[in-house]
Amino acid sequence: MYPVIDIDMAKYCKGCGNEIHPLRVKVLPNTQTCVDCSQTGRKSGVPVLRGDVEKDDTWVDVVFIDENE
Ligand SMILES: [Zn+2]
Repeated sequence: MYPVIDIDMAKYCKGCGNEIHPLRVKVLPNTQTCVDCSQTGRKSGVPVLRGDVEKDDTWVDVVFIDENE
C-alpha cells in the first residue's frame, strides 16, 4: 500500500561503503559519496581571512570548494 521510499532512496558511498544519509541523497540525488568522503576527498578547504584588520576584528573562515560540481 505504501511506497517503499527508503529502500529506493538508499545509496551507499563509493568511498567508504557506508550508507549515505537520506537527507543528503534528497538534496543531492546524484551524489555517490557520504558527507565525510565528500569533504575529505572531493572538496578542498581554503582558509580566508575576514573582517576588519584595522579594527582588529578578524577571523579565519574556511571556504569549501567542490571540485566536482
Ligand atoms: Zn563515505
